[in-house]
Amino acid sequence: MMTRGDLISAKRIVIKIGSSIITDEKNIIDDTFLKHLAEQVYKLKKKNKEIIIVSSGAVAAGMMVLKMKEKPKGISEKQALAAFGQGYLIAKYNDVFNKYNMLVAQVLLTSEDIANRKRYLNAKNTLENLISKDIIPIINENDTVATNEIKLGDNDNLSAEVACLIDADLLIILSDVEGFYDKNPQQFKDANIIDTVTDVNKYLKKVTSKTGTAVGTGGIFTKLQAAKKVMIMGIPCVLAKGKQQNVITKILKGENIGTFFIPLKKSISHKKYFIAFNVKPKGKIFIDDGAAEALLKKGKSLLPSGILSATGNFDIGDVVEIEDKKKNVIARGLVNYSRVELDKIKGKKSSEIEKILGYKYEDEVIHRNNMVLLTEKFI
Ligand code: ADP
Repeated sequence: MMTRGDLISAKRIVIKIGSSIITDEKNIIDDTFLKHLAEQVYKLKKKNKEIIIVSSGAVAAGMMVLKMKEKPKGISEKQALAAFGQGYLIAKYNDVFNKYNMLVAQVLLTSEDIANRKRYLNAKNTLENLISKDIIPIINENDTVATNEIKLGDNDNLSAEVACLIDADLLIILSDVEGFYDKNPQQFKDANIIDTVTDVNKYLKKVTSKTGTAVGTGGIFTKLQAAKKVMIMGIPCVLAKGKQQNVITKILKGENIGTFFIPLKKSISHKKYFIAFNVKPKGKIFIDDGAAEALLKKGKSLLPSGILSATGNFDIGDVVEIEDKKKNVIARGLVNYSRVELDKIKGKKSSEIEKILGYKYEDEVIHRNNMVLLTEKFI
């Protein structure tokens, strides 16, 4: 299992800066923090580390410059404020990082850029290009165009997507808490910090559950989601308090600081990750018990014979969910047939496909290689 000591050799590092630390107690951009961030990044770059920053703070910057006391409530007002503030935020990064002879670039992303394969590759290539030119990408969600449907909604998840996109060696999430606690530290004085997390699902369930002892929700939920995403891809994550001396360099020395999320040894492939997380399913396929057993226990592909019915307007190549008779969604995969075609071949033998449709793409409706079992550890 990976240890904190292994973080010393991490080369490509994604650092997420939360809105709670980019501003100070007066809600203005915290120059001292940014300067210390630049200082640490500078030292790391001297050691040939590659640094990618995901930063919140556009709205806060906008409010600061316009001397606004309260966040606007309307969506377009908020988006306008983010657009205005983003320029200011990047200008700040530019100023501070330039003093250390480092160059920065603004990169704005939405979940669509990650869910669409072509855009995904484009985003990846752009980031790789910036990194190779020694320019530090400063990434934020593209609030100006993002509607609710295409919004990732939080920079924690965005930072995890970015880390997976560019095969990072480490994700560091800097926030206003020392780490992940067994209870919400703002409500409970006796909350204890958890040093190491291996089974993140255990905590994710608690954080969302409305019953039982109170465990914090809010900001910590998306941080656990982010940790889970990278852990599945074999990337470690550290959640730590941003405003402490040399926090990043200490993490990279393997020091015991914040919460360390240990990744899976056997991670899933990019393709399977894409199917499991990045794409919204277009429909659902309902299967019988025999098919469920074949998928879960025998590692088989999904054939038309085990299919009972389907819903949704999916086409060839879309992602669909697979549900068993107990109403459990057991897998996700890329379909080889459209909904219309599937309605004709469901329940039939693969050898009958050509006779029924007049053609045949594949024997399988979903091939094993294009399928992720949602029962795999963590998912
Ligand atoms: P950021 O702006 O850095 O993304 P958030 O305010 O969204 O930060 O999330 C961090 C907050 O989550 C902490 O300040 C803390 O109040 C809250 N929180 C709730 N439950 C927990 C927990 N179990 N462990 C740590 N923090 C928690």
